[in-house]
Amino acid sequence: MRHAPAIYLRISHFAFRISARDLRVRLHNSLTRRVEEFTPLVPGQVGLYTCGPTVYNDQHIGNFRTFLFEDILKRVLRAHGFSVRHVMNITDVGHLTSDDDTGDDKMEAGAAREGKTVWEIAAFYTEAFFRDMDKLGIERADIVCKATDHIPEQIALARRLEEKGFAYRADDGIYFDTAKFKDYGKLAPTRLAGLKAGARVEMSRAKRNITDFALWKFSPPEKDKKRQMEWDSPWGKGFPGWHLECSAMAMKYLGEAFDIHCGGIDHVPIHHTNEIAQSEGATGRPWVRFWVHGEFLVIDQAKMAKSAGTFLRLDALIEKGYSPRDYRYLSLTAHYRKQLSFTWEAMDGARNSLASLREKVRELPVAGAPLSSAGSRLRAEFLERVGDDLDMPGALAVLWNVLKDPKLPPSEKRTLVTDYDRILGLGLSLEQKGTLDSMVEAKIRAREEARRQRDFARADAIRKELAAQGIELEDTPQGTTWKKK
Ligand code: AMP
Ligand code: ZN
Repeated sequence: MRHAPAIYLRISHFAFRISARDLRVRLHNSLTRRVEEFTPLVPGQVGLYTCGPTVYNDQHIGNFRTFLFEDILKRVLRAHGFSVRHVMNITDVGHLTSDDDTGDDKMEAGAAREGKTVWEIAAFYTEAFFRDMDKLGIERADIVCKATDHIPEQIALARRLEEKGFAYRADDGIYFDTAKFKDYGKLAPTRLAGLKAGARVEMSRAKRNITDFALWKFSPPEKDKKRQMEWDSPWGKGFPGWHLECSAMAMKYLGEAFDIHCGGIDHVPIHHTNEIAQSEGATGRPWVRFWVHGEFLVIDQAKMAKSAGTFLRLDALIEKGYSPRDYRYLSLTAHYRKQLSFTWEAMDGARNSLASLREKVRELPVAGAPLSSAGSRLRAEFLERVGDDLDMPGALAVLWNVLKDPKLPPSEKRTLVTDYDRILGLGLSLEQKGTLDSMVEAKIRAREEARRQRDFARADAIRKELAAQGIELEDTPQGTTWKKK
């Protein structure tokens, strides 16, 4: 039998020998409804697109469950030796309250509710979103792109579809004719079957087929309904349909075919189904290879939604004395394709587990040691768990076993914990007896120096880096103080 080729990876300060078997990443692909081995189009490089927030309100902890799973996916891909180009959009326009392209515009409704302009609303909630992302230790996408900054790209895509005969004009906008796209609904065939069976579903008068969706909506002609956000287009003043931005921006930054597209499970039947129709309709070839979807966070058996009374913000957890990392830990205890039921008891459990994890890590020596063969096996075991369709509960079990292992030298445990935490993102590598103070003070000094040199970007980056590790800075007239969240 031939041996699998060995690959040397340089992670942290030690090089590890890993067999190609351990480097495999398998992911559930919603397109094939199977777990498949993942390989990117360009060897070693992954193009990843994740649908971002709609910024007319705060994101709830259910939304953050999805962003957490996507963060884990990115870290896992990197740990498996891929470089990742991650693009995430900010939906700051044209998102109507109904999936049928009717109803109020959520952004305009948010602005009316708060007595602000839509632009103010968008800026406010985008900032709030990133603050929460930082608190949860979620890394930023390489490219964060706003829908409002990409109107020409969206118009160009709609034009391309029109030229190919996929679009038609109705009273209130330009629609995509789903009957003309042969593969329509391949991501969610059961939805189409359901629609045919239950013909009661109401259909906007303007549409030819029940599944057709708007590429461009016209601004209402009535003066009293004037929109704050509207743009000129070849079809008149209006705004893009809500699926268009993701197709246009993903293609702009990742190309006309790329590797992975993610989002919450609710996006499968409509948003992602329509993104596929637009993109593949325009290019005439397959667009995304892997569609990876995260299941919902539910509360009292109902999905957590902005519209329902089950809306919990991250701040609500913080006010009750939980740290954002406790919630991150909770999210790791369930597989991303299983519903996670939110309860305060589960939060307590996560907090206690994380606290005792920290306690155990703090007992380890500060310096890690090179791994013995037993240590290397444990390293590979962890990589194998996370590579198996992101089995994070399994990966956590490996971590706990490492910490409890009576035979493994503590210095090797330190090496492993540091390594694992690159994926877990729980801030465990900081847990060191007596060294936290000096590390934080050094960072505060570096930040003060950056501010003296008016390098505010660097100063801000240091603050964020500390925040991601659960350390909060406060600037007082006497100087900067810090506390652990
Ligand atoms: P939105 O701002 O509504 O576009 O949602 C942002 C992300 O959160 C999307 O990927 C949604 O699919 C996802 N999402 C919405 N509700 C939940 C939930 N209860 N649990 C997990 N993810 C959710
Ligand atoms: Zn999207």
